[in-house]
Amino acid sequence: MARKRVLITGAAGFLGSHLCDRFIKEDFHVIGMDNLITGDLANIEHLFKLENFEFYHHDVSKFVHVPGQLDYILHFASPASPIDYLKIPIQTLKVGSLGIHNLLGLARVKRARIIIASTSEVYGDPNVNPQPEEYWGNVNPVGPRGVYDEAKRFQEAMTMAYHTFHGVETRIVRIFNTYGPRMRLNDGRVLPAFIGQALRGEDLTVFGDGSQTRSFCYVDDLVEGIYRLLMSDYVYPVNIGNPDEITIGQFAEEIIKLTGTKQKVIYKPLPQDDPKQRRPDITKAKELLNWEPKVNRAEGLKITYDYFKSLSKEALEKIEHKDFSNYNKK
Ligand code: NAD
Ligand code: UDP
Repeated sequence: MARKRVLITGAAGFLGSHLCDRFIKEDFHVIGMDNLITGDLANIEHLFKLENFEFYHHDVSKFVHVPGQLDYILHFASPASPIDYLKIPIQTLKVGSLGIHNLLGLARVKRARIIIASTSEVYGDPNVNPQPEEYWGNVNPVGPRGVYDEAKRFQEAMTMAYHTFHGVETRIVRIFNTYGPRMRLNDGRVLPAFIGQALRGEDLTVFGDGSQTRSFCYVDDLVEGIYRLLMSDYVYPVNIGNPDEITIGQFAEEIIKLTGTKQKVIYKPLPQDDPKQRRPDITKAKELLNWEPKVNRAEGLKITYDYFKSLSKEALEKIEHKDFSNYNKK
């Protein structure tokens, strides 16, 4: 029987590359697409030798063409870390609006089922904890995070419209903070920031007083949840994340213990609109998908730390960010 064909956008990124691995393992023909704005081909280098993998270097905010049949589309292309989307706000808004429109149009003509990567950021700085899917959120549209949060909210609305108006088979996953190998050391997210600082012998920078909370999910658990949701019949958003909530101050202490660094915690101002609490209510995922996370933080952090330690000294020292100044003008 011919292999099923899946298009994965954002394939060279952290999550996209793990999804490529999973669909290769399931014996799909995988078509990766990425414009490499925050991704790295090194994440999928090992797949290029396979006959059931191909790659398009393409910006999905422009018209997307893929020859042949498509059975599934996973739309994961988007800057994802606060540092990235603050540096490239217009690209972020474009991929969340023009990009999703192109991908939904493609899903429609190919009669493919599409899943889109949404985020816990649709809940903004939430007034309820944990956050169930029914919570509509508390988002500042004109604050610095608005470019990401509102793009993702629009993406959900557009996806539901294509489902109800055009009958496209759609799925929406709301992803909570996920970590693991292949995160970019300089993407500014808290885990690579802390581990990078420990490895370079710098103090760990906690923003605010460290009382804000997050709940960290290991990447393999997330990928399993996404796979199950894609194969399910459920069209409304589903939270996938690990409900084990921790303050950022405690998290810094865990990283200090894990890495054995002699450095200390230093405090920096809390960025504007930084959510004070975040924890997924995963009742739906449990009931609909029979899914819950399996990897606890101690295990997941150890694997991730080993990955960062295996990087070259050069990669570790290279913490400056790419020059994004031209992208903003497009
Ligand atoms: P990432 O930056 O590692 O990956 C994103 C990928 O998308 C990169 O390879 C980038 O080059 C590519 N990309 C961006 N704009 C593009 C465009 N216009 N055309 C083609 N490719 C483009 O980030 P990630 O953590 O892997 O996030 C992947 C997706 O998951 C994003 O949509 C993000 O919003 C979502 N998400 C991630 C998390 C998390 O904790 N990692 C949480 C919530 C949601
Ligand atoms: N944070 C921090 N120090 C850092 C980077 C991040 O204290 O060097 C905090 C940040 O303010 C937020 C939390 O860690 O409260 C998670 O930040 P991240 O950027 O990883 O993701 P977010 O959940 O905010 O999108």
